[in-house]
Amino acid sequence: MNTELVFLKDCYAKELQAKVVESNPEEKWVELNKTIFYAESGGQPTDKGKIEWKGTTSNIREVKKRDGKILHFLEGKIPEKETEVKLILNWDLRLKYMRMHSAQHLLSALILDKHGASTVGNQIGEEKSRMDFHPIKFSQEMLKEFEDKFNEIVEKGVPIEISFKDRKTVLEEVDEKRRVLFSRLPEAIQEIRVIEIPGIDKCPCGGTHVSNTKEIGKIKITERKNKGKQRDRITFELVD
Ligand SMILES: [Zn+2]
Repeated sequence: MNTELVFLKDCYAKELQAKVVESNPEEKWVELNKTIFYAESGGQPTDKGKIEWKGTTSNIREVKKRDGKILHFLEGKIPEKETEVKLILNWDLRLKYMRMHSAQHLLSALILDKHGASTVGNQIGEEKSRMDFHPIKFSQEMLKEFEDKFNEIVEKGVPIEISFKDRKTVLEEVDEKRRVLFSRLPEAIQEIRVIEIPGIDKCPCGGTHVSNTKEIGKIKITERKNKGKQRDRITFELVD
C-alpha cells in the first residue's frame, strides 16, 4: 500500500496517529498507513524521532524508500501489524532541515536569475548545507551580493507556498529558465507539487519547507570551492 505522506501538504505536523501495515522484526522496520517522517532523498536527510504504542516507545532512527515503500527503521521494540501508533518528530532537527531547504531554493533562484547558473547538486545538513552551480565562477563580491540580497528577502518576510498544479498549467506558467525543472519530471506525474516564493521562484519539490522567508533567518556563505569546469560549490550556514 502507499503510505500517505502528510508532510506534502502540512510541513508543520509534529505528531500523528497512524497504523502499522507491515512489520519486519528481523530488519527492524515498520511500514505505516500514513507518516509525517521524510525519507532521505533529493539532498534532504531523513527525519528522526519516536514511535509510541501501548506504553512502549522506540526511536525512529532512519526513514528510507525501498521498492516503492516508506520504511521506518527503529531502535528498540517493534510494533506488530495493525497496531495503532503515535509518531513524534524530532522537531528541532526537522525545523532546521526545513529552514535549510527553503534557503536552498531561495539561493538557487537568486543565482539562476542573476547569472543563469543552475543548481546541479545539493546536500542539506543540520549545521551547514552545500550547493553546486554550473556554469559559474563566483567571486567574493558576488557571494557577498547574494548573501545581502538573500538576507534582505528574509527581512521582508515573503511567503513560501505549497500547491499542487496540473502539469500543463505549470509548464505554461513558469519562465523559460525554470521550465526544464518541470519538464524533466516523468510524464506519469500529471499533478506537480510546487514550492513558490511569489515574485521570486517556482520549483517542483517533494521536500519540507518553512512558510515564510522570515522563518529561514539570515544565512552566511562560508565557503566557495571550484569543483570542475565552470562548476562551483558554495557552503552556507544559518546565522541563528
Ligand atoms: Zn526542494
